[in-house]
Amino acid sequence: MSSLHDATTGTERESRGESPVEQDQPLLRVRGLKKHFPVNTGFISSVKLNRSGGFPLTLDDTKVRAVDGVNFDLHSGETFGVVGESGCGKSTLARTLVGLEQPTDGTIVFEGEDISDFDSSSLQQFRKNAQIVFQDPQSSLNPRRKIGSIIADPLEAAGWDKDKRRDRVLELLEDVGLEEDFYNRYPHEFSGGQRQRINLARALSINPDLVIADEPVSGLDMSVQAQILTLMDDLQDEYGLTYLFITHDLSVIRQVADRIAVMYVGDFVEKAPTSKLFAEPHHPYSRALLDAVPNPDPASRDLSAELHGDVPSPSDPPSGCKFHTRCPKIIPPDGFSREEYIEYVTFKTEFDERSVDPTDDPATYFDVSLPRLAQSTVEKAFTLAEDGDWDAAKAELDTHQSVCETAVPDLEQVADASRHTSACHLPDAEREPYTW
Ligand code: SF4
Repeated sequence: MSSLHDATTGTERESRGESPVEQDQPLLRVRGLKKHFPVNTGFISSVKLNRSGGFPLTLDDTKVRAVDGVNFDLHSGETFGVVGESGCGKSTLARTLVGLEQPTDGTIVFEGEDISDFDSSSLQQFRKNAQIVFQDPQSSLNPRRKIGSIIADPLEAAGWDKDKRRDRVLELLEDVGLEEDFYNRYPHEFSGGQRQRINLARALSINPDLVIADEPVSGLDMSVQAQILTLMDDLQDEYGLTYLFITHDLSVIRQVADRIAVMYVGDFVEKAPTSKLFAEPHHPYSRALLDAVPNPDPASRDLSAELHGDVPSPSDPPSGCKFHTRCPKIIPPDGFSREEYIEYVTFKTEFDERSVDPTDDPATYFDVSLPRLAQSTVEKAFTLAEDGDWDAAKAELDTHQSVCETAVPDLEQVADASRHTSACHLPDAEREPYTW
C-alpha cells in the first residue's frame, strides 16, 4: 500500500494556518466566465408568436444563463468548494472549466496561459492536467469493460505500452484502496463507493494537477462518504492535487474545502475561507443554506432564516439581486415593513407567473395587511389584468421596488476580512450576528 497521510479536513488545515499559500500566479484563474444555452435550437421552435398567437412574429432568443459571470482564482494545493442548491449552475461551471462546454464569454487561464490561445497539443495537455470526476460512478463506467482497461484508457491515449499500463493500473488500484484482482472484474461487481474509487484511479492515471469533483459523494451513504473524502484528502497530499469540489451539501464541503464560493443562479454570491463562512456567513442566501444543515444544538439556531420558494429559472432570472424573490432580509422600499414587502414580492412573483386570478378579491393573496398605497396599486393591477393588459398590470405593481430589485450588488470585501467577499446591499448595521 502506498503511504497515505493522516486525514485532515480543509477547515482543520485552515485553522492551523496550513492553508495553501496564495502564489502570485494561481493554477487556475477564471474571469467573467459565462455559459448560456439557447432555449430553442431549431428555427421553427425559435419563432415566437405574439400573445394572441398571431403576427408579428419575433425570434425567441431566450437564453438559459447557467453560468453568468463567475470569477475566482484557484491556487496549487488548495481545495476550493462551490456550493449551492441544485440548478444553480455548479455542474455547468465544472463542465465549462474542463472544456466539455464552450464558454459563451470570459477567460480561463491555466498556469498563466489563456486556454483559448492553446493550439491542439497544448489543449490536449490541458485536458490531461484537468480531470473531472462525476457524481454517478455507475453511469461513467462502461459495464461491458473490465476495470483494468477502463482505468488504463487515459494511459493508452497518452501512448503508454501495454505492460507499463498494467503496472500503472495496479499501482493506482492500490493507491485508491482496491485489490489487485479487481483488475479483471466488471463495474457491476462493485459497490457505489468502490466505483467512485475506480473513477478516482482513472482520473489520476496520468498525474493531473487539477481535479474537478462534481458531487463525488452524493448518493453514497454517510460512512462511505467519509471514506471517499478521506481517500481524496490522502490522494491530494500524495499526488499534489488541487481540487475544485462541487456539492450541494454544506456538511461535506466543510470537511474538505479551504475556501468556499456560494453559487446562486449562475453567480457567486459569497466567497470566504471555510472557517469564516461557517462562523460569520454574510450573505442571506449563505445563512439560509446553513440553517438548512442539521445542527447538533438546535438552541443555537435562534436566528434561522427561512428559504421559501424555488430557485428561479436561469432563463428568466430576477432583476437586481437574483436572490430578492426569496430573501428573508430584502430591503423594503419606503412605506413598507420588511414583512409586508416580502409578501408583496412573493405576490409579484406569482403575478409574473400568472398564477393569480384577477377576478379574485386581492386581499385573499396576502397574509398581512399591506400599506394603503400598496393596496390601491394591487387593486389597479387586478383591474388591468382583468382587462387583459398583464404588462401594464405588472408595470403598476413595479411602482413599488426595493433597491434589491433594481441594482445588481457587486461581490465586495466584507469589512476588514481579507478573502471574504459578499454580494448584498444590506447595510452591515442591519445584519444580525450569526450562530450556527
Ligand atoms: S441584496 Fe437584498 S435581496 Fe439580495 S441578498 Fe442582500 S438583502 Fe437580500
